[in-house]
Amino acid sequence: MAVGVYEAMPLKNDNFKMYIDGEWTDSSSRETSNVINPANEQIIATVPKGTREDARRALEAAKEAQGKWEYHSPLERARYLETIADLIRQNKERLARVLTAEQGKPLYESRLEVEGSAVNFEYYAEFARRIEGDVLPGDYPRQSIMIMKLPIGVVSSITPWNFPSSTVARKLAPALITGNTVVTKPSSNTPLSTIELVKLAEKAELPKGVLNLVIGPGSEVGDELATNKISGLITLTGSTDSGRKIMKAASGHVAKVVLELGGKAPLIVWRDADMEWALKCAIWARFWNCGQTCISAERMYLDAQIKEKFLAAFLKAAKSLMIGDPTDSATDLGPMVSKDQREICQQFVEKAREEGDKVVLGGSVPNDHQKGFFFEPTVIDGVGQKSDLIQEEIFGPVVPVVTVETFDQAIEYANDSPYGLSSYVYTRDSTNVMKAMYKIKFGESYINMIGPEQFQGAHTGFRQTGIGAEGSKYGLECYTQLKTNYIDWNEKPDLPYLFPYGSKVA
Ligand code: NAD
Repeated sequence: MAVGVYEAMPLKNDNFKMYIDGEWTDSSSRETSNVINPANEQIIATVPKGTREDARRALEAAKEAQGKWEYHSPLERARYLETIADLIRQNKERLARVLTAEQGKPLYESRLEVEGSAVNFEYYAEFARRIEGDVLPGDYPRQSIMIMKLPIGVVSSITPWNFPSSTVARKLAPALITGNTVVTKPSSNTPLSTIELVKLAEKAELPKGVLNLVIGPGSEVGDELATNKISGLITLTGSTDSGRKIMKAASGHVAKVVLELGGKAPLIVWRDADMEWALKCAIWARFWNCGQTCISAERMYLDAQIKEKFLAAFLKAAKSLMIGDPTDSATDLGPMVSKDQREICQQFVEKAREEGDKVVLGGSVPNDHQKGFFFEPTVIDGVGQKSDLIQEEIFGPVVPVVTVETFDQAIEYANDSPYGLSSYVYTRDSTNVMKAMYKIKFGESYINMIGPEQFQGAHTGFRQTGIGAEGSKYGLECYTQLKTNYIDWNEKPDLPYLFPYGSKVA
């Protein structure tokens, strides 16, 4: 496979470190870990493998900086965010190439993701004049009740590998605009995009300590961020399993948590849909980012009346997807992020075969892409609702197909999942549309359209998909602490419940 861009960009020569209290730093243990390019299995960078001690130091720095940061006006804070957005755009091509090199998604998708990161900073900068509270009358004359939204303090942000640029931006921007300081920890698979972003924040002259970066294992560095009393809020985007561990760790000091966890999006195609459009949407919703997206269409429910025809068209379209070097503009599907992630996919397919499901497309490592962590677009038909393929998150380019007889059955099956993030419905029947809106218990429904989620939408989920929201004003609110002030300017008000009770009648 051609390596073109990786030679042109010698990441190994770059200095990749952690960033604590305004200084670029190695791990206190001096240990390091390698970042692998999943398209060719080459080491592209070596980064510090941080420790609990590093995490503690970063939290202390964030705590120290928070008091001053809080008393900048939101408009001053917004200026930093706008500068970061500008710098992201100025460096877009480099950031996109770093992202592709560490994660494997096609460069085209990386450019879109990096642009999304810039918009996150821009979007939340716009809230500077809109961190609104309430003023209410009290129960007695000349009293006011003022409900304010204050910063929580120090936010610990923990992010996954599948969108290493935008998931961190979506946490940093609302945390910073509301006056919090942050310690952020990327996935060890893909730390480079966060390092690049923090370099830009430094260039934007963000005051020292306001944003800190630690890198290291979730079980140690991440656990310290969750357990340490300095963290007022732990915000994780990651698997449901990690979410559970973080909830438990945070419960020791009753810290707030925002958890954006696993997904298992159902995609329903009904007999009255615009089939050509539904097909385009279904293909993209399953295979973008090589199926490694929390909102990926992870299971397809096809109306029995159109199933054979739709499936045939789906197979044809899936077969035509170009697998290859993610920096090649013709590539639709790059590699998966890691060998481990690919093995999970392979195990799902093997189990399906053993259980008698029909692998009607793919299911293997492509012959001409043995180097790198590639996997074929895979379609499995005749799958039962209780199968692991339907109940568990696959997180790769594999889609199980279930045939349904009625729209209500499709909804029932869709809801039969521990996850509740995104869902897709293709129908032109207005009753079905209304049913989809009210009865599909998922945080998002894409009705006759596809994602990704938009900045003004609340990204959130039912059941084990998590707690809280990202994006929108609701995402912003997660980074604030409500405070109610009761104010009395009626000197010595005649309150009926003061002592002595004497002969007062209640
Ligand atoms: P992961 O849970 O393995 O890791 C996510 C982050 O959590 C990493 O930085 C990791 O080091 C850290 N971590 C792991 N264990 C920890 C612990 N005990 N304490 C503290 N931190 C810990 O997830 P992943 O494999 O990187 O990402 C894929 C998962 O993320 C999928 O389940 C996907 O659905 C989910 N995801 C969800 C959304 C969403 O918006 N809901 C978006 C993207 C990805």
